[in-house]
Amino acid sequence: MKGPSPRRLWKYATRRLGLKPYFRSPGDGRLRPQIPAHALLWALLIGHVLRQYAFHAVEALVRSPARRWLGVSAAFGDDALGYFTERLNPASTRAALAATLRRAKRNKAFDDSRFIGLAVDGTTVGRTSAAACPLCRPWRNAAGQVAGCRHHFTLISVVGTGLSLPFDVEPYGPGDSEYAAGQRLLRRAVGNLGVRFADYLVVDGEFATAPFLQAVGALGLHVVARLKANLPALLEAAQRRFRSQPPPTTFWDGPDRVEVWDADDFDPWETLRWETVRVIFYRQHPPQGNVIEAFWLTDFPTRRVSSRSLYRMAKSRWEIENQGFNDAKNRHGLQHICRHHANSLLVGWLLTLLALTIERLYRLRYLHRGTHRVRTAIELVRLLWLSLARPSFTDTS
Ligand SMILES: [Zn+2]
Repeated sequence: MKGPSPRRLWKYATRRLGLKPYFRSPGDGRLRPQIPAHALLWALLIGHVLRQYAFHAVEALVRSPARRWLGVSAAFGDDALGYFTERLNPASTRAALAATLRRAKRNKAFDDSRFIGLAVDGTTVGRTSAAACPLCRPWRNAAGQVAGCRHHFTLISVVGTGLSLPFDVEPYGPGDSEYAAGQRLLRRAVGNLGVRFADYLVVDGEFATAPFLQAVGALGLHVVARLKANLPALLEAAQRRFRSQPPPTTFWDGPDRVEVWDADDFDPWETLRWETVRVIFYRQHPPQGNVIEAFWLTDFPTRRVSSRSLYRMAKSRWEIENQGFNDAKNRHGLQHICRHHANSLLVGWLLTLLALTIERLYRLRYLHRGTHRVRTAIELVRLLWLSLARPSFTDTS
């Protein structure tokens, strides 16, 4: 039978993406393992791809006759997954994700785009009624009372290339912050990917501080950051200048008319060691009305990046919301707590990202060779499920 199947996906991951060494030694911290680590790991990953992420759901799959078609070599219970993920070293999965991205770049997966972007942003997952791990942060209801706890992390994703690949997370517990976690994440991610992997980092306004922008520059990246009221002097200067001028650049983004103002001679604020700051302002007119406008700042020189390219880079930040958080939460169980244990949670988030990365490279690049159209995510999920329903008489194991 031709067409996508979990076993073909396994072959793709281990051979084409070079993940065989990772499956062989994924940082297994169990003392006397009975079940091979690769069986547990692949069951978790294929579970995420099939949108069956709960440990009980994975157990049901591997205890069913479909197990051999899933490519999982042993059956096990949900407790085995809990024990395994509590002890799995997250560094190995982070390294596997970075290696997969480097290989994708070598294989020209991003060659359609002139610039490769990275985006960093924070999110909230895993709400529970009571604190149970060191990452739990209390959350308060409208009356200000502690009403439970939840978990936070910053996520980093490749953006701006037509292939959104989220590839690392950094949690922040009580006493820590999104801003501090974002800096740790960026430093580690660039260390794992290599300094020349990406061209720019795009972030929301809360990261637009002098220390953060300078740290980005020191990592060899340009930065594109939302300019908001936390930088009042620069925002006011840009508003004063741009709102009094007609737009110098106008173009169409799909059905939307876009006007862009752009100037590279604004003064940096006291602590920012840049000679000047470039600011763009866009006003986007969708056909139905509801004008969208925003200010952004950057250190990209005008001669290297046009107003229009800068607009696209600014817009690429939405990928971390849509193809990052929304996809992972709504379809792949990023919100779900399988085992309330700090390492288990972190490993679960990282494995969600690895499953998304394998699925996207397989579907959007590997299956898309030739002239046929790209399959949607749900089409691939259906084909994978259908491939599991085979007659039992062929089962000779
Ligand atoms: Zn917790």
